[in-house]
Amino acid sequence: MLIEIDQSSGFCNGVVRAIQKAEQELAKDGHLYCLGDIVHNSQEVQRLRKNGLETIDNKQFRELSDVKVLFRAHGEPPETYRIAERNNIKIIDASCRVVLALQQKIKDAHENFPNAQIVIFGKNAHAEVLGLEGQINYTAIIVEGEDDLEKIAPDKQTFFFSQTTMPLDGFAKILEAIEKRLNNGVDFRYFDTICRQVSNRIPEIKKFAQRFDTVIFAGGHKSSNGKVLYEVCRSVNPNTIFVSAPEDIDFEKIKHSKSIGICGATSTPVWLMENIRRHIELKMS
Ligand code: SF4
Repeated sequence: MLIEIDQSSGFCNGVVRAIQKAEQELAKDGHLYCLGDIVHNSQEVQRLRKNGLETIDNKQFRELSDVKVLFRAHGEPPETYRIAERNNIKIIDASCRVVLALQQKIKDAHENFPNAQIVIFGKNAHAEVLGLEGQINYTAIIVEGEDDLEKIAPDKQTFFFSQTTMPLDGFAKILEAIEKRLNNGVDFRYFDTICRQVSNRIPEIKKFAQRFDTVIFAGGHKSSNGKVLYEVCRSVNPNTIFVSAPEDIDFEKIKHSKSIGICGATSTPVWLMENIRRHIELKMS
């Protein structure tokens, strides 16, 4: 049986950098707080927890003082930095540079054009989106789909951005719909701020998934990127199975497969895909 791991699956640069920063700090101190899960993958979160990385939520963060806290790749709104300063919290800032650049762009648009409406294509309450909205005091209009378009005033100057992990085709669709909604002559400026580390995975994973009898997609249940990529695999190969751990594999379903491809999201660790391969080899030998 042929078993192959997709070489383009695995952590994006932003997540790699955040984990490296966490591991550097853990090597020094043996303990570090992280505001929110460092990555949407419970296996990786568990691995780091064993090494001393303690995930906290916003409420716990507000109650801490005189400690070190890592900010993950998603980025944070300004008030998180203010709380850290007030409580003498040392920040280990692993906010992704791509996200920070987008935060700045949104802030600049708002400062230079205070009467314009800022529209963000993204998921309500997603950590990255909260960080983006926070730059402009939560005045942005968040559009998840066409149902949200009615929140956009047709007669106002409009700036349109995207959360970095949204699909390119979804962005194009919403862009077209906004153009139609706005009155003729209204100033409309749009910025494709989708991270290519995510969007390039779609054509790559499509090609990969077509080559195998069965595809095992490894991902966390909280990962939105994982859901998108899993559906992409399934659209080209109906024999795609979603797993979070090697033990999730139903061997009844794959016992007749002559070739198995293993792939995952931008939040899936390579070691997890390797464990899956070893598990299959062991069970099927
Ligand atoms: S997906 Fe892109 S923007 Fe998001 S953390 Fe990874 S590298 Fe940064």
